[in-house]
Amino acid sequence: MSFDQIRSFVPPVRTLMGPGPSDVHPRVLSAMARPTIGHLDPVFVSMMDEIKTLLQYAFQTKNDLTIPVSAPGSAGMETCFVNLVEPGDKVVICVNGVFGGRMKENVERYGGVPVMVEQEWGRAVDPQRLEDALKAQRDAKIVAFVHAETSTGAQSDAKTLAEIAHRAGCLVIADTVTSLGGSPLKVDEWKLDAVYSGSQKCLSCTPGLSPVTFSSHAVEKIKARKTKVSSWFLDLNLVMGYWGGAVKRAYHHTAPINPLYGLHEALVMLAEEGLENSWERHARNHRALRAGIEAMGLSFLVPESERLPQLNAIRTPDGIDEAAVRGKLLSQFNLEIGAGLGALAGKVWRIGLMGYASNIKNIVFCLGAVESALVQAGARIQPGKAVQAALEVSGAR
Ligand SMILES: *Cc1c(COP(=O)(O)O)cnc(C)c1O
Repeated sequence: MSFDQIRSFVPPVRTLMGPGPSDVHPRVLSAMARPTIGHLDPVFVSMMDEIKTLLQYAFQTKNDLTIPVSAPGSAGMETCFVNLVEPGDKVVICVNGVFGGRMKENVERYGGVPVMVEQEWGRAVDPQRLEDALKAQRDAKIVAFVHAETSTGAQSDAKTLAEIAHRAGCLVIADTVTSLGGSPLKVDEWKLDAVYSGSQKCLSCTPGLSPVTFSSHAVEKIKARKTKVSSWFLDLNLVMGYWGGAVKRAYHHTAPINPLYGLHEALVMLAEEGLENSWERHARNHRALRAGIEAMGLSFLVPESERLPQLNAIRTPDGIDEAAVRGKLLSQFNLEIGAGLGALAGKVWRIGLMGYASNIKNIVFCLGAVESALVQAGARIQPGKAVQAALEVSGAR
């Protein structure tokens, strides 16, 4: 590529129905194009306070320490682990997919001792396994799990897992990157202590921000630490000097001003729709997609009762080059769906119905496009039925 050929970057208009990022709402994009102001400007600071209030609503919590970390979901994960895990702390981690595995990496890097509770991929975490593990690990301090495993499409029972953890005297770290806004999540009622999420999944915002919330028990553990938090950037004691309540805001880092406008707009839209209505919309659209997928003769990886409505893992048909099908969807239809990750690579497609992208127009488009690509690839599926089945279930017909 020669330097003088490079021009402005103009991306194609795609429909994003993979595991994230999902389609960003035009209102969010236009909010982000508003003028940049200073990160200590009083007008900006009052918008930050609104973001905190809106995030408390989205997480269903009264936690004071509820903020967006200035980096993607993975940084929210690091924020939880680096602040809560002290050297030598035993952390029991439930793993049923890719993201649970990353929790182990975090615990090890911060000097903790991970104990893994393994679960077959494509299933929810079995609460009994956690209970058994905690009986054998009486000195465990923290239990961590992924509420919505985006790598497999399985949803775990966060409330029950948290109850078991608390009975054993542990704090709870929960990954809610894909659940926030898309399926029921009640941080206070379920007593989750340290929770992280992401902006680019069911909130329909751009990637790069990670909402987090911490209970008073979690804050106590952080304040009682004997060692310094080993990340300067993610040390909540310092971050709170900027995001904190009554005290005067101090410079810590320059907040990503325009992305925060976008998050604010996305959260305003969530409040306008109503959280429960958003959960219901995601559930309804899952049912419509499911009807279409099953009418084609394809099947789901995860049993219905453990399935995430916003992330649908569908078994790829035998004898088909699944990567070629995804390539065709992208080149012919500007449609992105997700590939399988890790142990599920080549075995499933992941169709996201997240946030703004969770609507009947996208479902009809996706089913038609997948069907067409599969027929062209010579798959033995039943054409002509999927769209009709989805419309029947959605009530749109
Ligand atoms: C997407 C995702 C993450 C990571 O978020 P990034 O914004 O990509 O860093 C973590 N956990 C789960 C369950 C996710 O789906």
